[in-house]
Amino acid sequence: MARVETVNGPIEAEDLGPTLIHEHLRTRDEAVHEQWPSAGSAKEDPPHAVAPGDDFDVAVREANAALALGVKTICDPTAMFLGRDVRFTQGVSEQTGLQVVPCTGIYTYDHLPQFLLNRDADQIADLFIGDIEQGIQGTEIKAGFIKCAADEPGVTENIEKVHRAVARASVRTGAPIMAHSRPASNTGPRQIEIFLEEGVEPAKIQMAHTGDTTDLDYIERILETGAWIGIDRYGLELYLPFEERQETTRALLDRGYADRMFLSADSCATIDYFPPSTIEQLVQAGLAKNWTIRIVPDRVLPELRESGMTEEQERTMMVDNAVAWLTA
Ligand SMILES: [Zn+2]
Repeated sequence: MARVETVNGPIEAEDLGPTLIHEHLRTRDEAVHEQWPSAGSAKEDPPHAVAPGDDFDVAVREANAALALGVKTICDPTAMFLGRDVRFTQGVSEQTGLQVVPCTGIYTYDHLPQFLLNRDADQIADLFIGDIEQGIQGTEIKAGFIKCAADEPGVTENIEKVHRAVARASVRTGAPIMAHSRPASNTGPRQIEIFLEEGVEPAKIQMAHTGDTTDLDYIERILETGAWIGIDRYGLELYLPFEERQETTRALLDRGYADRMFLSADSCATIDYFPPSTIEQLVQAGLAKNWTIRIVPDRVLPELRESGMTEEQERTMMVDNAVAWLTA
């Protein structure tokens, strides 16, 4: 069987086990952190910003919580601009035993630094390929997949260039792609179109956040292309309430799509995007609820079992699909 890269080296794909396809062990604005290392510090529970050093302890705690609920592996799509730090991730994995598949790529909705503005898609692809073939950030840890994003601004010129770079890196290395999408802005079809134009096999494409809509026509249009979909923001009520996500999942299971979808939360053990007081307000306002790495194994799956999800469907979504996408 094929092998999959993790932060602690390659593993046999059959050893992935129950896998959450989209969880972040730490999210932070890397440029701000680099320039003002103590900015955004506060000692509170996740998903709050934390004091330097404490983010590691929180990530370890969340990783252990996932393990206790039967999760064996996560894919961590923390790319550039989300504060990727593969040594941090390796430390969490080493301390807990949670297997973590790291990524390369760029998480942006349009902005690019001058370095990337002034380079073409092939030159950007070379950066990704280095992460996949040589290693990330001077380590021998290799990326297992490639991340990119399109959101409210749509597929702008910069976003198209990043997508083409991601596609070319995928074609040259065989690495699969995870693309953050925004159904409300209808980004998915155009993102997929670019990947296919560049010759990416549909089975390598995962459209993250497709589950932010209840529009089954939109979702089936994505599925018809052969791409995978992520119902992957359980707990982020501001985009779609939990119950509506569950209804969508049930409808897709009824239509026979267990072998095409992933369930996850897009949780961030810690995130420094907002002052802690703002995050508290968001939680109080109900915009994020139980938004943690625990929500899928702890709440989503038990409810789905009760409403008729079979053991086979669960195994397909939580184990087999990760193997299929990561080794496509
Ligand atoms: Zn994410």
